[in-house]
Amino acid sequence: MEKIKMTTPLVEMDGDEMTRILWQIIKDELIYPFIDLKSEYYDLGLEYRNETDDKVTFDSAYATQKYGVAVKCATITPNAARMTEYNLKEMWKSPNGTIRAILDGTVFRAPIVVKGIEPCVKNWKKPITIARHAYGDVYKATEMKIPGAGKTELVYTAEDGTEIRELIHNFGEAGIIQGMHNINGSIESFARSCFNYALDTKQTLWFATKDTISKKYDHTFKDIFQEIFDAEYKDKFDAAGIEYFYTLIDDAVARVMKSEGGYIWACKNYDGDVMSDMISSAFGSLAMMTSVLVSPDGKYEYEAAHGTVQRHYYKHLQGEETSTNSVATIFAWTGALRKRGELDNIPELMAFADKLEAATIKTIEDGKMTKDLALITTLENVTVLNSADFIKAIRETLEGML
Ligand code: NAP
Ligand code: MG
Repeated sequence: MEKIKMTTPLVEMDGDEMTRILWQIIKDELIYPFIDLKSEYYDLGLEYRNETDDKVTFDSAYATQKYGVAVKCATITPNAARMTEYNLKEMWKSPNGTIRAILDGTVFRAPIVVKGIEPCVKNWKKPITIARHAYGDVYKATEMKIPGAGKTELVYTAEDGTEIRELIHNFGEAGIIQGMHNINGSIESFARSCFNYALDTKQTLWFATKDTISKKYDHTFKDIFQEIFDAEYKDKFDAAGIEYFYTLIDDAVARVMKSEGGYIWACKNYDGDVMSDMISSAFGSLAMMTSVLVSPDGKYEYEAAHGTVQRHYYKHLQGEETSTNSVATIFAWTGALRKRGELDNIPELMAFADKLEAATIKTIEDGKMTKDLALITTLENVTVLNSADFIKAIRETLEGML
């Protein structure tokens, strides 16, 4: 079979630990044999980030701005233990945080649904995608413990020195206060990323806040979404046969539980943090969640939602066999290849991405899977495969389909 040709390079961001091991096997078994891969390679492994003073992370994000599509392996976010383990010059920031800030993007997370791994919520039939706003609110808040009786106020001082004051509370005893903010520009980018991704995936978009209680803060989110939708997206949504739908956050939670899935749920920063863990665990497995960062001007970075699976890597280093699930990392590759094919008008590349996803799902549904899935599946007589053999089994299924 002739290999599929590409015209524009894919930005490839390699990573750390067990996922770095999987990355190489995935390329060797599932990509190189079928595609004449054109990629611009950036090594985001912690050693090379340290060697380049993290310049490589910035360069990889700029390359994503230039080419439009990236695929990323999970990476270590350094903490005190990693400082010693890798003898780091500095506690480098989270690569995901750096890339997200440069692309001004929103992260969309969606479960990969297969027969035999059943969601806890029995009426969920299709994936629910969570979009989380990644700026501000309680994550950039200033807090104070109030020691005793006294007055607290919000104060805004304009550049010309004029002030606006609002009473927070007249304390009669000790208590606590918090000041948080957001920026209209960031909310606008969030809204555009959500509308674009909804059009891209042809799914209805839900957005929910608590605007009845938070009449200025949350209401501004609601208004910005509505204004942008009416001005820029309404006609496109009508043409695509999808909807934009706003409701209160508590109503949204109730509707999500009764729905059958198949839509995007946009959340403010805190709601997205909490709800994405609820959705991923209710769908069955963190190892089956994909993640894509979408910028408001349509740049895409695909990855798995899980981390570097450190515990398995240490076993691997001891020479022990591992059974690490590569599905979300494979779907990061298929997502990126399909998007590249779409932008460059290469239908064979898009078709290959579809087939590789179908082969991955079929392999699991045929009873061949990694240990994490074998522990929760409703299928009987399953075969538990090690990390490499699972990927080889997918290759066999894929070759049978091509
Ligand atoms: P993790 O890598 O997501 O793994 C936590 C546990 O979840 C694993 O020990 C394993 O459970 C299970 N698991 C996750 N992915 C799996 C897979 N593909 N196959 C099988 N089991 C899987 O989280 P972590 O161990 O807390 O973090 C490790 C490193 O990842 C950290 O340095 C963190 O900074 C980084 N991280 C990176 C990203 C990213 O780049 N996007 C995201 C999150 C974390 P068992 O051990 O029970 O088998
Ligand atoms: Mg969280």
